[in-house]
Amino acid sequence: MIQYKINELFETIQGEGSFTGQPSIFIRLQGCPVACSWCDTKHTWEIELTDEVSTDVMLAKSQETSQWASLSVAQILALIIERGYQAKHIVITGGEPCMVDLTPLCIAFDDLGYSTQVETSGTFEINVSDKCWVTVSPKVNMRGGYPMLNSAMQRANEIKHPVATEQHVDDLKVLLEEHNIKNTPIYLQPISQKPRATELAIETCIANNWRLSVQVHKYLGIE
Ligand code: SF4
Repeated sequence: MIQYKINELFETIQGEGSFTGQPSIFIRLQGCPVACSWCDTKHTWEIELTDEVSTDVMLAKSQETSQWASLSVAQILALIIERGYQAKHIVITGGEPCMVDLTPLCIAFDDLGYSTQVETSGTFEINVSDKCWVTVSPKVNMRGGYPMLNSAMQRANEIKHPVATEQHVDDLKVLLEEHNIKNTPIYLQPISQKPRATELAIETCIANNWRLSVQVHKYLGIE
């Protein structure tokens, strides 16, 4: 039976991409070797066995830490019911959630009538249920040295690309060309709400008929 290493589990509003505004239950998995310099969840990178804590301690965290709790699918479902969460949309994120097989987790939620979404860098094989919405946020030439996978690019229901410079836009265009991506919705997401990044994203979205994703939760000051 798979045990998932959970860094955080909480209910909020999805602030990014196609599901912006959707009440969602976020399941954040521990572990990511991709090493993006501007990553805003660096506390999820390392999986240290000494960071394993109980479910109660993981849920009670008041700040971002690398502590995680090991939970089975049944334990995750029970926890969601116990906490009285009302959202019917599940976002599995990280870290890099696709380092592990997410299929049993997705299928359990599918069977209960939840919709599921996974947010991944596209550098690991994506193992999810057929119904799961896949958001690929491509990470090109990052320090970890993981190449983008064609299988991930083809499975993507949306591509959400972080941008701060013209180089990021150029990298995305090359990637779309290399993987022959034509009809997948493309979102540009300004890195760290920087004004120049936002301006560049707006200009580029208009020029290419792409969409803007502005991380609404950060403007609202919510998780
Ligand atoms: S892939 Fe995501 S979690 Fe991993 S380093 Fe990059 S931004 Fe951070």
